[in-house]
Amino acid sequence: MRAAFLGLGIMGRPMAASLVKAGHEVTVWNRSAGKEVPGARAAATPREAAEGVEVVWICVSDTAAVEQVLFGENGVEGALKPGMIVVDSSTISPLETREFARRVGERGAEYVDAPVTGSKAGAETGQLIFMAGGSEETIEKLKPLWTAMGKSLFRMGDVSMGQASKLGMNLMIALTYEGFAEGLALTGKLGVKPDALMPLIQASMVRSGVIDYKAPFVLRRDFSPNFPLRLMHKDIQLMLDAAREQRVKLPGLETVAEIYDIAAEEGHDDLDYAATLTLLEKWAGVEVKGTAA
Ligand code: NAP
Repeated sequence: MRAAFLGLGIMGRPMAASLVKAGHEVTVWNRSAGKEVPGARAAATPREAAEGVEVVWICVSDTAAVEQVLFGENGVEGALKPGMIVVDSSTISPLETREFARRVGERGAEYVDAPVTGSKAGAETGQLIFMAGGSEETIEKLKPLWTAMGKSLFRMGDVSMGQASKLGMNLMIALTYEGFAEGLALTGKLGVKPDALMPLIQASMVRSGVIDYKAPFVLRRDFSPNFPLRLMHKDIQLMLDAAREQRVKLPGLETVAEIYDIAAEEGHDDLDYAATLTLLEKWAGVEVKGTAA
């Protein structure tokens, strides 16, 4: 297929590379210069990238960035034609997603929200999981593209249900990780070695995909970003906004949000979100370190 890929960050660049590898004709665009994808044509603006393609796939930071790329100066809007499909794999507001879909629809184009889970490793290995909102027919047309980037796609309902599901998924990830981090801090302070704790976790019902993914990084003290703390912080704000709108009380998330506020104040924004552990360690006066460190 002829596709434009907009946003070449931690996730977008390997996703676009997977499309090229699968033989699609790809044009890429990134806000700042210097990010490229071998085998893809580079465009100067989102509009230029979107000219003449069948699908425009977006993966940028947040709601404001998606709005800018779609409807800002030299945005995708100017190139939209009936039958084109816009897909957004950023994690953004479900409510704004409906508005973006409405505006894209005014030009005769279709809209699918398709946020992802699987993080940097999933993007680099083409093993992402998509959770999509949009019509069944439109999502079916996208199959050659999402199968190049991911291992599965779940249709969650109409437009915005992908984003709504993603907020729930990341809520569970943030709280699961925080539980792991607090468990490490407490057992560490009590004198349990993390290398002894890990096999116990793996053998028990505590085991989870989140811990499987994060533990090796944490135990070797590698807090370089797979999923930057600033982005999980942004997602937590989206969850709390949605909870306020829908009158849902989330006391666990409200507490975790405070930890992220402090982590941001202390300058940890560009580390991985696993770095919230370092605050717990500082408060407890303990450092959790495996022999791998
Ligand atoms: P990232 O590495 O920080 O990349 C962000 C991208 O957005 C960059 O290409 C950046 O351009 C672009 N951008 C930011 N503001 C923009 C604006 N106003 N206009 C145009 N482009 C803008 O982030 P990422 O990890 O790839 O994440 C991208 C999205 O996927 C986020 O919504 C995130 O929540 C979601 N996500 C991430 C993960 C993960 O594990 N990393 C997993 C699932 C979902 P520049 O290069 O110019 O800064």
